[in-house]
Amino acid sequence: MPELPEVETVRRGLADRLESFEIAEIEVCRARAIASPGGVERFVAGLKGAMVGAWSRRGKYLMAQLEPNRGSWGVHLRMTGQFQWHATPAAPCSHTRVRFWNQNNEELRFVDLRSFGEMWWIPEGNDLDSVMTGLKRLGPEPFSDAFTGAYLKQRLKGSARPIKTALLDQSLVAGVGNIYADESLFAAGIPPLSPSGKLTIEQLVRLRDELVNVLHISIGVGGTTFSDFRDLEGVNGNYGGQSWVYRRSGQPCRKCGTPIIREKLSGRSTHWCPSCQR
Ligand SMILES: [Zn+2]
Repeated sequence: MPELPEVETVRRGLADRLESFEIAEIEVCRARAIASPGGVERFVAGLKGAMVGAWSRRGKYLMAQLEPNRGSWGVHLRMTGQFQWHATPAAPCSHTRVRFWNQNNEELRFVDLRSFGEMWWIPEGNDLDSVMTGLKRLGPEPFSDAFTGAYLKQRLKGSARPIKTALLDQSLVAGVGNIYADESLFAAGIPPLSPSGKLTIEQLVRLRDELVNVLHISIGVGGTTFSDFRDLEGVNGNYGGQSWVYRRSGQPCRKCGTPIIREKLSGRSTHWCPSCQR
């Protein structure tokens, strides 16, 4: 599943590719990809003829302004959604969900194997979260000033929930998933099963710093090599070759040589080093 660095990589790709992209034609191949009120018909009417403006990201949500004063276009990739750029006409694969063309017949294609990805059209003047209601539940961005060790301490106070599980909760911090939760906990030397409320302020400050650091590194290399993630040009990122623990179960820890452990926690594979994290 794409996490913050992968979604940010996609945002940058869309911003580059769709500069001065006027949506001349849209084909929705699968109606359930459109999640906004009024469904396919209203979505197509909202976007057709609009110029795609600036792209932003909040957690794992992507939003584009539509010009002039045409509202906004929202996207969530969920498990397997990905955009493809086709400069010349190419036959769509069976997982093609939505297609957008400009006047030059260049195509932005949304392909989604599992079909959980969603798109919205938000009319001009409406708050984004009135339509993309999931935005209301998001905690602070990891890179924002609001996300501090003290914030974590206050939010996790008294919680018996394992810290790994807490990090996956989008209402605690936006955009973090399995890969970067495991990697940041390793870097901070914290066992993933630690009860959240028992962590000290020093540990939480360190966790915050390491999480921000690992996200920065991964954005810098264009996202992860893991999962089916691809950017607009069909390339997956470079994060993974240098992962410390994620998907390295049984292999020696890169710091101390102890075999990395993997265990299911809240239904998700969790990887850690029992020597470095205790
Ligand atoms: Zn180790």
